[in-house]
Amino acid sequence: MSSVANAPRVGFVSLGCPKALVDSEQIVTQLRAEGYETASHYAGADLVIVNTCGFIDAAVRESLDAIGEALAENGKVIVTGCLGARKDASGADLVASVHPSVLAITGPHDLPAVMQAVHTHLPKPHDPFVDLVPEQGVRLTPAHYAYLKISEGCNHRCSFCIIPSMRGDLVSRPIGEVMREAESLVKAGVKEILVISQDTSAYGVDLKYRTDFVAGRPVRTRLTELARELGELGVWIRMHYVYPYPHVDEILPLMAEGKILPYLDVPFQHAHPEVLKRMRRPASAQKNLERIRAWRAVCPELTIRSTFIAGFPGETEEQFEYLLDFLREAELDRVGCFAYSDVEGASANALEGALPAAVRDERRARFMAVQEPISAKRLKRQVGRILPVLVDRLESGQAIARSMADAPEIDGMVYIDAPGSVSQRMRFRQNIGVGQIVNVRVHTADGHDLRAALT
Ligand code: SF4
Repeated sequence: MSSVANAPRVGFVSLGCPKALVDSEQIVTQLRAEGYETASHYAGADLVIVNTCGFIDAAVRESLDAIGEALAENGKVIVTGCLGARKDASGADLVASVHPSVLAITGPHDLPAVMQAVHTHLPKPHDPFVDLVPEQGVRLTPAHYAYLKISEGCNHRCSFCIIPSMRGDLVSRPIGEVMREAESLVKAGVKEILVISQDTSAYGVDLKYRTDFVAGRPVRTRLTELARELGELGVWIRMHYVYPYPHVDEILPLMAEGKILPYLDVPFQHAHPEVLKRMRRPASAQKNLERIRAWRAVCPELTIRSTFIAGFPGETEEQFEYLLDFLREAELDRVGCFAYSDVEGASANALEGALPAAVRDERRARFMAVQEPISAKRLKRQVGRILPVLVDRLESGQAIARSMADAPEIDGMVYIDAPGSVSQRMRFRQNIGVGQIVNVRVHTADGHDLRAALT
């Protein structure tokens, strides 16, 4: 992309989850659309935007540190994102009380407010080079995969979570708009689309599943229809944050047919009914086990990733053991577990029965000790198989890729070794490139990753 010699330059620091990353992409896209340049160093920037995360205390600290660094290095800082919406104990803006010299603070998903602050503190150029923006916008992920945010906010009120208070109730994007963005990503060369939201299963509920138009055809704004439409794009489609509601069953046949990836990221969080009730989660472990079995009957290749919380307030040893039994029965492929910690503003903080940190940590460690051999066993089933993998990067002597079972950043990798002889290595380099899907034969599995050779 060409640059404009005297265009104002904006530095950008993006922290937080994939949803925050999508917000960052929209801001950067808008800046470029209006003729601003982006700067890769604080020193070269006329102003810096920090997109923050406020989900857990460690993220809050990281965000506050990043703001402090940007202020020290550059001095002109606009803060956006989840931390921008947080208050301190006295009810004042948390960011403003720690860093009073920031120029402006906005909450998450507030592109107009961010742009207004930019316009105030760094007026936009008179003649914006609108046509410098690629049709698909400016993305911060590598060129071959992209996150597609289908909705914002959440209608649940899980007691450990403050996302609804920061992002509000569910607001779905109409399916026509989502599909236009997906199509333009594919046109720009994206090979994998990762569907994200706070609650993907609830897509369209707020719109009463209203009919919209996709390429002139009437299509309902609903998860199954979205999966079906995305499945026609000919790229990998990966579903994240899918709650196990009954209608999720409808997308399993699409996975079995190879239309979308046989992968579900389902945040179960716990299994014991009492704990789920205190978490205010709308789920039952027994139904979840039945559902997992039914999903696997329809699509045996299904990979299920999930996250859990150990040591939730009031969790008894018996309830924790119940969770471990669930893990043993469910045999999930990939699992993350957090030791419970208070999040400022969450109603769970007021629950009775808070456990000492040592107990929470010990339960998390026991949880992972139960899960590790299960994940390893599931992964081992891949040894000897031929799998399509998407190449993420090339390093000396090997390519690093992901299988259909691996989401970027959170799951495992497939390491593809270059063969020994010079001619074989030449062929390897010719046949493999970043963003390509290639077939490999898996020869080894460790607890997390696979090693393979090109077929
Ligand atoms: S489903 Fe629960 S944990 Fe997820 S965003 Fe909504 S309230 Fe938070």
